[in-house]
Amino acid sequence: MNKLDSNLVANSFAQAGFDLVDSPIDADVVLVNTCSVRGHAEERVMSLLGHLKHIKKTRKELVVAVFGCMAQRCKDALLKHEVVNIVCGPLQIPELVNLVNNALDHTKKQKSVSENIRHKPLPQDLVGLDDFEQNNDSAENSLPAQAFVRVMHGCDNFCSYCVVPYVRGPEVSRPPEKIIEQIKKLADTGAKQITLLGQTVNSYSYNGASFADLLYDVSKIDGIEWIKFVTCYPKNFDERIFQAMVDLPKVCRYLHIPAQSGSDRILKAMNRHYTADEYLAILDRARQIVPDIAIAGDFIVGFCGETDEDFQKSAELIRKAQYKNSFIFKYSTRPGTRADEKLIDDVPMEIKKQRNIELLAVQEKVSEEWNKSFIGKTVKVLVEGVSKKSHLDGVDNEKLPQLIGRTAGDCIVVFDGAADLAGGFADVKITRASALTLFGQAAD
Ligand code: SAH
Ligand code: SF4
Repeated sequence: MNKLDSNLVANSFAQAGFDLVDSPIDADVVLVNTCSVRGHAEERVMSLLGHLKHIKKTRKELVVAVFGCMAQRCKDALLKHEVVNIVCGPLQIPELVNLVNNALDHTKKQKSVSENIRHKPLPQDLVGLDDFEQNNDSAENSLPAQAFVRVMHGCDNFCSYCVVPYVRGPEVSRPPEKIIEQIKKLADTGAKQITLLGQTVNSYSYNGASFADLLYDVSKIDGIEWIKFVTCYPKNFDERIFQAMVDLPKVCRYLHIPAQSGSDRILKAMNRHYTADEYLAILDRARQIVPDIAIAGDFIVGFCGETDEDFQKSAELIRKAQYKNSFIFKYSTRPGTRADEKLIDDVPMEIKKQRNIELLAVQEKVSEEWNKSFIGKTVKVLVEGVSKKSHLDGVDNEKLPQLIGRTAGDCIVVFDGAADLAGGFADVKITRASALTLFGQAAD
């Protein structure tokens, strides 16, 4: 979501005549996109602002704009920071160019955030944002031939640990025709893979159209070859989404479905509305309908009151779920959330770290098994570019660079091939595999 917002903002500034420079030292304007999901992300913003203070000492005219979730969460407190000129919430990013131009002209502080973020916007309130997405999305800013498309804003789930509902506002689905129009435009400018984004895409709903309906519609767009989507919420799962994976060759057989914990007691405290068994039942159904589906999860370790027994249940869930990979986070208490206000963040950091390492090790074993099953097979890969770690992986054929790409099932593949394959598809014969990566050669 943040990558998409950065992309949209960068394109809107390019359209307004701004050029990108490599370093803040050479910039007239510094735009800082921010995340509030964990405290660490916010700490990094504060240290970046500290760094900008040094630059601003000698160049008072430098304009610093902070946008995104932290801008919405901290509002005036952030605006008071001595280097910050502009604070702009995630729903106000279409105003950012104007705010910056005003600040460049008057050097007066500017703010645009939602004063009542949980107030449900009317469809007409979001027209500006919709137009902004349509006009500024692009297939080239993140990875060649790939684009993100938001299908919904916000979230209404209020998981007790999570700040998202308070910074991105209520859940609102975008009109399907706008989404389709946007994707057609992206396809015309070279996008081959579209990733549909929402906090809980499986609850997408617009005038009776469901997310599965949207998948069938997007699938008809010429030029788009792969459709991925993140993230799904493991409740009220519409099985037509799985059926779409079977019916539609463009819909990738990949499901990112966070569990957060394997302990029913903790899931209840997290306000997640399902048990570990109910969660596993969804995965079973997914595998019955789509036998080769790749599944990824998210876990939080060290949530309020998590005992060692609770934690072991998360490890057990990882083994049972047979994830392709999991994203594992140490619980970070977020101001304003129910957990922060009503529960005690009582698991010491040392234990959170230990559990994080332990759970990663459990997942690593499961991932290794998953990845090894590809050895000897040929997989289709959308090539991202030259692998940054190529020097570490040992080049099999010195004449060719090592390329990196991903399969439809989201496996990372490093292989020997010509650099001009970036942005295209390649068939790769897999020769070895680690927990994180498949290695191979471009097939003849
Ligand atoms: N909407 C998505 C998740 C958005 S946040 C979903 O519900 O699946 C991405 C991930 O960050 C979450 O899945 C969760 O694992 C993690 N996360 C959210 N809040 C957190 C917190 N306070 N501390 C640690 N991790 C958190
Ligand atoms: Fe946060 Fe839960 Fe909404 Fe995901 S579903 S964004 S974790 S509140």
